[in-house]
Amino acid sequence: MSRKQAFSSLSGTFSSLCPCGKSADYLKCCGRFHGGERVEVAPDAETLMRSRYTAYTLGLEPYLLATWHPDTRPESLQLSEDKATRWLGLEIKRHEMTGENSAIVEFVARYKIAGRAHRLHETSRFVREDGRWYYVDGEFPAKDGSK
Ligand SMILES: [Zn+2]
Repeated sequence: MSRKQAFSSLSGTFSSLCPCGKSADYLKCCGRFHGGERVEVAPDAETLMRSRYTAYTLGLEPYLLATWHPDTRPESLQLSEDKATRWLGLEIKRHEMTGENSAIVEFVARYKIAGRAHRLHETSRFVREDGRWYYVDGEFPAKDGSK
């Protein structure tokens, strides 16, 4: 076992695989957009969606707010009060350009609160302004009967 592997098994809960579900290292996947020495801009709405999901799993509220369109952005997300949520996975169902600078991404995200599994099925709208994609809002295509 290399020192690096030993370190990641010691640190336990955080694997270097990106939480968004792509079989890629976090730093090479969504981590590129979250920060570091050279912050990159997500090239399309699906990539932005993945990086936002990963930001939720890591509690990166500043990133979530920065990628939220100013017209619909909440003041804050109170992620720190939301520690009980455990994100389990993301599945992208559909990614469609709806115009030159707009797109929708349909996804299912799974999470657990206090041991109970939930499923969020949302179709999110994104717009591109000055070369950057922003989350606008979402619709819920169907209420999944997880009760
Ligand atoms: Zn990722």
